[in-house]
Amino acid sequence: MAEMMADSEMVAGTAAGVAEAAGTRSAHKITLIPGDGIGPEVSGAVVEILEAAGRATGVSFDWHRFDAGADSYEKTREYIPKALYESIEANRVALKGPVTTPVGGGFSSINVTLRKKFDLYANFRPVKNLPGLQTKYPGIDLVIVRENTEGLYVGLEQEIVPGVATALKVVTEKGSTRIARFAFEYARKIGRKKIHAIHKANIMKKTDGLFLTCAKRVAEEFPEIAYAEHIVDNTCMQLVMNPWQYDVLLTENLYGDILSDLCSGLVGGLGLVPGANLGTECAIFEAVHGSAPDIAGKGLANPTALMQSAVLMLRHIDEIRAADLVQAGIEDVYRAGKTLTRDVGGKAGTMEFKEAVLLAMEAHGAMEAHGVMEAHGAMAAGAVARG
Ligand code: ATP
Repeated sequence: MAEMMADSEMVAGTAAGVAEAAGTRSAHKITLIPGDGIGPEVSGAVVEILEAAGRATGVSFDWHRFDAGADSYEKTREYIPKALYESIEANRVALKGPVTTPVGGGFSSINVTLRKKFDLYANFRPVKNLPGLQTKYPGIDLVIVRENTEGLYVGLEQEIVPGVATALKVVTEKGSTRIARFAFEYARKIGRKKIHAIHKANIMKKTDGLFLTCAKRVAEEFPEIAYAEHIVDNTCMQLVMNPWQYDVLLTENLYGDILSDLCSGLVGGLGLVPGANLGTECAIFEAVHGSAPDIAGKGLANPTALMQSAVLMLRHIDEIRAADLVQAGIEDVYRAGKTLTRDVGGKAGTMEFKEAVLLAMEAHGAMEAHGVMEAHGAMAAGAVARG
């Protein structure tokens, strides 16, 4: 399980190192779902950044691209093409842009379907300030560990009679115990000190009650990590008043979704916060944000959240140098504060921001100047040729 976790602080395994020592490094096969809305814009930027980081650190990628959702349905009459399932199954790692879920009707969420299909039970979302970015809450460093397969997301809804609809909330001992164990093992490995289980067990006595019972039981195996329980509505208030009290938030599915957006707001917004969906076999890396239809196609989207998700992915596949280089590039651009996107108070578009990160990676010194400049030149030439 340890290698399924990903965080800038996680110690990675050695698969890549062994292959490197043997001089047999092959391209990482990654399933890429660009998504829709702002998805293609942000994922395009991220792929360019990863390619540049790869050239600088001797890593190569073999991208297997797939549409999903409405775009896929138009072409194949399948919301999630069979070939996409097979690709994730074979590659075991995917990078995913947002895919729009219709509100109130239409097809089921592609995101939720993929998480359930591959039993990606842990949604891991680190929330941290970026250097140089002024926010109302400096010094935030917390992690949301969200149960990703149960709760109200099981999709068991029905209209009993016209005017009366119900939804089933499913909580199991197995699901609650494994997500609690994930959170505590992560905390132990990284040295995080405190876990808060977030609940509404005063009202949902059986479901949230079971979630808490399991969390409490697992907590007993980790005496060095402080354990507390907060009711979800109080947690919202606490996060606004004093977010620094939190270290790891262990949540069931819906509360984790809502608290993720709230926590994104603490550090500068949805454009920044990354995520990983982790299971025992596969992992899908995606930002917290959705498809942002209000800014789609305008070149305004902030690709930072997906870039930082890609950093989590690079650590997951043991490409630590490439991960460090991308993260350093992102942080240098924020530190300089000159080429930021509008959502964080700047004037730059997606492409300008991406170019700034490429240059920062080069200037950071970990990249072979020629590799980047040639790539840059080729991209610029390509853009001119296309333009
Ligand atoms: P979902 O329910 O699918 O997660 P959502 O309802 O939370 O989606 P988003 O699509 O995430 O909505 O967008 C919420 C707001 O945040 C919108 O105003 C959107 O423009 C903004 N936003 C989201 N992602 C980004 C981004 N990468 N860059 C800039 N603004 C963003």
